[in-house]
Amino acid sequence: MRRHRNVKIVATLGPASSSYDVIRTLHEAGADVFRLNMSHGEHADIAERHKHIRQVEKDLNSPIGILADLQGPKLRVGAFENGPQQLIDDGSFRLDLNDKPGNSERVQLPHPEIFVALSPGAHLLVDDGKIRLRVESCGDDFAQCHVVAGGVISDRKGVNVPDVVLPLAALSDKDRTDLEFVCDLGVDWLALSFVQRPQDLLEARELAAGRAALLSKIEKPSAVEQFDEILNVSDGIMVARGDLGVELPVQNVPPIQKRLVRKCRSAAKPVIVATQMLESMIESPMPTRAEVSDVATAIYEGADAIMLSAESAAGNFPVEAVTTMDNVAIEVENDPNYTEIIEASRSAKRTSVAEGIVAAAREIAETTEIKAICCYTQSGTTALLTARERPRVPIIAMTSLMGTARRLALSWGTNCVMSGPKKRFKEAVVSAVRATLSEGYAAADDQVVITAGVPFNIPGTTNILRVAPCDERMIYSTDPE
Ligand code: PGA
Ligand code: MN
Repeated sequence: MRRHRNVKIVATLGPASSSYDVIRTLHEAGADVFRLNMSHGEHADIAERHKHIRQVEKDLNSPIGILADLQGPKLRVGAFENGPQQLIDDGSFRLDLNDKPGNSERVQLPHPEIFVALSPGAHLLVDDGKIRLRVESCGDDFAQCHVVAGGVISDRKGVNVPDVVLPLAALSDKDRTDLEFVCDLGVDWLALSFVQRPQDLLEARELAAGRAALLSKIEKPSAVEQFDEILNVSDGIMVARGDLGVELPVQNVPPIQKRLVRKCRSAAKPVIVATQMLESMIESPMPTRAEVSDVATAIYEGADAIMLSAESAAGNFPVEAVTTMDNVAIEVENDPNYTEIIEASRSAKRTSVAEGIVAAAREIAETTEIKAICCYTQSGTTALLTARERPRVPIIAMTSLMGTARRLALSWGTNCVMSGPKKRFKEAVVSAVRATLSEGYAAADDQVVITAGVPFNIPGTTNILRVAPCDERMIYSTDPE
């Protein structure tokens, strides 16, 4: 599915988007990666959506990325005896381990580890921060709190504890079961929620055992503080603005987003900007101007991908939301200012031969009539390095591995073409030219840049760069493939 933009679109699937027809329409409208949110939906629903995605991929012959988002250690209060309760400002409220139904004075918080980690002065945020509690005194099984900002509390509302690094395992029992389930189905990316420290990646890495790449969702202050170390052990990042804006003052989110996007680009790892991008489109076919501006900002910043959550999962206008993102992306990327901004923020740190070659490919592509950069890549690394250069021409990643093509669906500007293993470089040139011509990236007499690692059977050795003319005869010739 040829796209006319660089930024990728991630669409979360849910009740509004679970049929084959809707998933296919979403992909045709622009969704490059589908997100399966493990916080909602039964395994049977997830398996059904997964099956439809793979069918669409097959029917349209277009690699699609699947990202399974694990719920992570999400804290929730227990249930209430007489329905929702109003907590008033400056009142008091107690959280404890007692499993008796709650009332206006107390409710259960069934997480013993939390009470051990709390100390007086810590804040507890209930229901996306709508209610703020401050711990006055606490013990091993309770926290007596002052109600800083009141509101209505009801059954199983979420609790955020921003001030404390919680002594929680990175993966809950549910996460472990879900991880095995989705890896069995076959997913390309696993997103970990509420990552607090780099060690949180270790267990998931071991359990995934190479079956999926790992994406860290940055939604805790401690993850922002240790971001460099977390990025180091992750394959990709999500700026999870929903919970981040609960755990930190909302005005801190935009500068964090900018900083994280830049760091990911310089590490050549894909970054998704997520949450409330087109929130009003859950109800309305038209976005607000502010939302359009937010989507545009993420694209100007050079994010690899922008994401839809409830807009595509549970809203009334999932296809319109994808189309809106697609339209905004095309407009922004055709703005000469976009190229200027993207190129001004290119990092110059290059230490390997492969990095030198991809930089040269980009430079050649900018100074002549080159229409595309074709890079042979098995692990995907060379494509990621090429994407980091943010070239002005499309990147065609040539790979024989479907898993690599699917993972790269998340990466800026990367279009994947499946191409079998090559014995000689000449074959690689012919295949690359054929792909650019037949997919419409170039026309006869245009030129393309091709990068590869020769010999082909040794991974991680990009060491050759060729400028080749697009000779139409190559499409029809049977030699040398
Ligand atoms: P969620 O993550 O939608 O799983 O909560 C994204 C966010 O918090 O922004
Ligand atoms: Mn979240």
